[in-house]
Amino acid sequence: MNLGGTSIATQRDAAILIVDDAPESLSALRKMMVEQGYQTFVANSGERALEIARRVHPDLILLDVVMPGMDGIETCRQLKASPVTQRIPVIFMSARTEAEDVVAGFDCGAVDYIGKPLRMAEVCARVRTQLQIRISQESQQEQAERLRTIVNNMAEGLLIIEADGRIQFTNPACDQYLGYAANELAGQSISDLLNPLVAQEYLDYFARYAANPETAYSHGTREVIIRHHNGSSVCMDLTLTPMFLRQPLFIGLLHDITHHKLSEDALQRAAMIDPLTKIANRRHFDSFLEKEWQRALRSGAALSLVVLDVDHFKLYNDTLGHAAGDVCLQKVAQAINSHALRATDLAARYGGEEFVLLFAETDSDSAYLLAESIRAHIESLQLPHPRSVTSPHITVSIGVATIHPSQLDSTESLFVAADRAMYVAKEGGRNQVRATRSSGDSLEAVKALVMR
Ligand code: GH3
Ligand code: MG
Ligand code: MG
Repeated sequence: MNLGGTSIATQRDAAILIVDDAPESLSALRKMMVEQGYQTFVANSGERALEIARRVHPDLILLDVVMPGMDGIETCRQLKASPVTQRIPVIFMSARTEAEDVVAGFDCGAVDYIGKPLRMAEVCARVRTQLQIRISQESQQEQAERLRTIVNNMAEGLLIIEADGRIQFTNPACDQYLGYAANELAGQSISDLLNPLVAQEYLDYFARYAANPETAYSHGTREVIIRHHNGSSVCMDLTLTPMFLRQPLFIGLLHDITHHKLSEDALQRAAMIDPLTKIANRRHFDSFLEKEWQRALRSGAALSLVVLDVDHFKLYNDTLGHAAGDVCLQKVAQAINSHALRATDLAARYGGEEFVLLFAETDSDSAYLLAESIRAHIESLQLPHPRSVTSPHITVSIGVATIHPSQLDSTESLFVAADRAMYVAKEGGRNQVRATRSSGDSLEAVKALVMR
């Protein structure tokens, strides 16, 4: 893979451009370089050297300093001035070996300076060395380029964080997740992104690691809420790994789990809701009742349970069809649900055409009135029931039970009382509300019945 776009010549097939105005030097050098296995190009002037260098991009240039016309120093300057040729290493060769000559050579960008007369073994060693340096430089550049490509294109957000919590770097995915422009996050602190407690926890971890790098351990992955640039919150998995270079740094990887969270929440909601009527289901009601029961146990407040059953609903289904029955149940459910107004009220479909309502902190008189208004509400919907013998419209029979829970009672006894009251309403002609007396007596009597 070559992401950098530059190909690295191996030592063997490296291309060397030899520049010398003296033909015998040129041919001796060329012979030597060919013997080393290099590909060679020759030029007898600075101008020609520039032309060839632009065309063939040699891996190294051996450049004579003293030449008629454009000399080696000027040639080197021009090579270094052009982006196409500036990275090609240049080795000067010259009989001028005064310190100032050598310095001038290095100053104009050469990597080495060899005195003439040339000792061929030395030239070969110096060429080899420069080619090696060039290869390792290019492979470093290529690696850096490869890393840059990965970091810029990875789906995970990446942050480099300093020990004091300052963000040093973020990749495009991170910027995008958090709603920032490129480089906008650099310089900010993780405290700007996280809630204070979580941020402090990270800062403590950074400080501990900075003080004692040998004990460094990866902070692992945890779910964090991060402040988005627009003020909203995003849920992310954050993985932190320490890295000790000249200073301790921390690599943070952000994985967006907002979508997972959303579907998790949706699943959780779905598990609590009746799909047909969109009100609470039995499971949700039972756990809600359990919580309110415990609360009422502590507070001594009254708890009222209302049980509702649609009258002659089998007949309705048989007459108008199951689909019409479904629509009817939806309407009845909405009517019932509209009476659960407080946070401690809950309406649920408990099964088939049977609904329940819990009114916490509600005595029996209030519960009776609420139940009566629900009954009236449903009757007033005037949903036609062609074959009902008790009413031309859909109606419900309602039982109400109220209790001040004690340790001796159970939610089951409350249900039994409400159901009994509901059946009394059925037997009484339907479309009516019946309540158990709130005095303990009737509940005790009901319990006695249950025990039997
Ligand atoms: P009562 O007045 O005594 O309550 O008579 P009823 O016909 O309502 O009572 P029963 O329990 O005999 O019948 C209940 C009917 O409710 C039977 C069933 O077809 C219908 N039912 C239960 N669940 C659904 C549902 O999800 N959709 C529809 N369309 N009908 C349902
Ligand atoms: Mg019924
Ligand atoms: Mg029924």
